[in-house]
Amino acid sequence: MRVIDPRQRLESGVLEMRGDGKAGGGLVLAFQSLAALFAARPEWHVQEWPFFSSARRGANIRSFLRVSRRPVEAACEVTRPLLTLLMDEAAARSADFAEGVPHGGTFVINTRRTPEECAQHFHLSGRVLAVPGDDIGTQHLKHAIGNISAYVALTEAVGGLEFDDVVETFLAQLKKRRIPQQLLDRNRDALHATREAIVEGVFDFARPGDHASTRFEGYGDLPLGAQTRLRLSQNNKTATFARSGFRLLFADPLNACTGCSHCIVNCPEGIIRFEPDTARGVRVTGADVSSFCKLCGECIAVCPENLFSEGRYEEVWDDTHAEEVRS
Ligand code: SF4
Ligand code: SF4
Repeated sequence: MRVIDPRQRLESGVLEMRGDGKAGGGLVLAFQSLAALFAARPEWHVQEWPFFSSARRGANIRSFLRVSRRPVEAACEVTRPLLTLLMDEAAARSADFAEGVPHGGTFVINTRRTPEECAQHFHLSGRVLAVPGDDIGTQHLKHAIGNISAYVALTEAVGGLEFDDVVETFLAQLKKRRIPQQLLDRNRDALHATREAIVEGVFDFARPGDHASTRFEGYGDLPLGAQTRLRLSQNNKTATFARSGFRLLFADPLNACTGCSHCIVNCPEGIIRFEPDTARGVRVTGADVSSFCKLCGECIAVCPENLFSEGRYEEVWDDTHAEEVRS
């Protein structure tokens, strides 16, 4: 069975990764650390974002990560990851962590089981890395949290990354959270302990039809803005205000809107205007820029048809009312 090398994919295209876990289990920190590890080098373009509902502790969550030598254009969820992580085995009860992974993909699992047991149980075909992250967390941090080990195992799965950088990047993420030095030291120990504990193998247990990608059927009842990507800070403009003299423009002279709804669910203000359309589900007609558009650029970035742009705008004052007031 041929394993698709994640490192090679990284060099030649976009390496797409996805993780499944439970809220409070450290999945977001693991993915953020991996994103930061790549983002520290100017040659990599990185897109990372977690997805969760009004997550209470224990709810299923997902994280997505794309890395490439070229700017990452895709703005949708990762549905065909080459590398996938199962941070919490309980999360696999309600989500297929291997969904869409191609034959020969790579699977990282936080578990006490062997890679072969995992491959058999989850019907996996490809490279399987198993690491007892919860046990390592318990041993070093007195807490069964596997994110440290999952992160290290992900870096091992990708390959070609300096271990010192791997360690320091994770600790830097913790420092941002003002973790005391004593705890940082214990995290450092856990990072080092993980390396020895990763076991891997290549297996072929997937049956035809296992883990097939489901067809995209729209975003359903998600709240507006739910998909807003938490990009790395240099790109994250969703918290800014519109610059004076500029405004959002929408033009669809060729009726090219596909109704994909990316703009609708990505707009943090929920102000994209649309109408029902029999063929496409919805047809976007513009954005309510007169109210809360902050020109964050999300709609511009996500529209596959490039129907949004920003342009100069001069405020035209209507003095009629002022005259009325004066008279
Ligand atoms: S630029 Fe305006 S309309 Fe577009 S996503 Fe941001 S707030 Fe919404
Ligand atoms: S305007 Fe663009 S992003 Fe929005 S639904 Fe149409 S094609 Fe999709």
